[in-house]
Amino acid sequence: MKVQSTTTQQDDHFLISNYDYKSTNIEKNGDKYIAKPQITNFKFKTDTRIPKLGVMLVGWGGNNGTTLTGGILANKFNITWNSKRGTHQPNFYGSLTQSSVIKIGTCNTEEVFVPFKDVLPMVNPCDIVFGGWDISSMNLADAMNRAQVVEYDLQQKLRPYLEKLVPLPSIYYPDFIAANQGDRADNVIPGNNKLEHLNIIRKNIADFKQQNNLDKVILLWTANTERFCVEDPNIHGTAEKLLKSIESSHPEISASTIFACAACLEGCSFINGSPQNTIVPGVIELAEKAGVFVAGDDFKTGQTKFKTCLVEYLVGAGIKPKAIISYNHLGNNDGKNLSQESCFKSKERSKKTCVDDILESNKVLYPTEEELNIDHTIVIKYCPETGDSKKAMDEYIAEIFLGGRQTFAVYNVCEDSLLAAPLIMDLLLLCELFERIQFQKDASEYQRFDTVLSWLSYLMKAPKSESGITTINSLSRQRAMLENLVKVCAGLTIDDNLRLEVRYG
Ligand code: NAD
Repeated sequence: MKVQSTTTQQDDHFLISNYDYKSTNIEKNGDKYIAKPQITNFKFKTDTRIPKLGVMLVGWGGNNGTTLTGGILANKFNITWNSKRGTHQPNFYGSLTQSSVIKIGTCNTEEVFVPFKDVLPMVNPCDIVFGGWDISSMNLADAMNRAQVVEYDLQQKLRPYLEKLVPLPSIYYPDFIAANQGDRADNVIPGNNKLEHLNIIRKNIADFKQQNNLDKVILLWTANTERFCVEDPNIHGTAEKLLKSIESSHPEISASTIFACAACLEGCSFINGSPQNTIVPGVIELAEKAGVFVAGDDFKTGQTKFKTCLVEYLVGAGIKPKAIISYNHLGNNDGKNLSQESCFKSKERSKKTCVDDILESNKVLYPTEEELNIDHTIVIKYCPETGDSKKAMDEYIAEIFLGGRQTFAVYNVCEDSLLAAPLIMDLLLLCELFERIQFQKDASEYQRFDTVLSWLSYLMKAPKSESGITTINSLSRQRAMLENLVKVCAGLTIDDNLRLEVRYG
């Protein structure tokens, strides 16, 4: 695709697009709103050179880590496999960047769509070099077998590639994850000195980058859900205080926060795929100083994706959700870890907040704070027999016309890691892309996006935003935000769906 326009310029290294952003400023005058449309000029500059990307996963030997690594290798080497349903080809279904499309315009009256990944130059997932840590020493072939996610025939075909991959020893603070994880912790960096731990992880990152001749590395936490750390401004509030607390091995410094600090100090962006409060203010300050991004929290895969879609549909239709009751049972190691109350609480929190802004936006349905307080209940039970095929059963009760009720009972089988792996890939590819984009507002200096990368909210259950920026949970708004950003950077027109060119030529 090539954009021919007076508002875009391209040379060997950069694609620059000029964009007049139209927004509406609202002033309140008593009980009236005064709307004042305005236009702000932005310039987006994308570095089109694709780097050699390395990714280090924390929890590499888990269900997500093994499924992602094996799935990418299957695609890279075009490995086919057989099941009772026949021969299967590898694909990237479930990946926004690889398997979804974006409308770029109209050819006569036909709408033209291209793959998301083709709008701006992006890293090919098959070129990513993977590494990482796990508290379990199992090589990735055996770990994939333990995970019981991937079909047996594909596991066998991947074995020669995966058995060579062994996670680095990791830091293990048993107080932060469930006690039942202790039996797999045979690959642990010894000692209790958190500063030494930080330095070892930093060295691991630097070695990985150098040994694989990488241009950049991104770290992603896909290890067990930790309990929330007891956040305290004196411990976590600034970069300096955080580093001091690490130096004194403070008990409220979690393993995930050590990894986040190590990433920032090594100049790598960090993504938190679990719900806990890893990205404390001190981490954000470290990331800011290093010029890297942080993003979180908790992958938005099955049930929550559906929830933010359905609630958006109801509220958008003027129907009033009054209760959401969500039951989950799952039998993988994630479920085993979540069976401990402290870890479940982290998950409950991120699952519960996911519709708040959608409800809050509609003051017709929810005129008071009290009415916003709908019954939203989350139950998670560990049931080993279900393995990675998590069952999500949700009941949505909504109030309709004249006091009537509309009830949805939804049964959703989320093959957890098969949904999560392509999503993790998207997080990595998009984070890498955003590291190559700069913008200029009204002819000011070029700057990078905010340190907390809320552009990735489509992929996060409890999206973290820059302070002062409200969180958007609506799935369609989150997707539109990402789609529009890449279109704007490429110099394409944003689609307002009026389709006037089709209707009136
Ligand atoms: P998993 O239990 O199979 O894998 C986690 C891995 O992390 C294990 O191999 C474990 O040994 C390792 N680990 C634990 N503590 C560690 C540490 N300190 N350092 C290094 N490794 C450590 O879980 P999973 O199914 O792969 O999920 C991973 C995480 O992603 C969980 O927190 C889960 O809640 C989150 N998540 C998963 C999904 C999904 O759909 N799969 C969705 C949202 C969030």
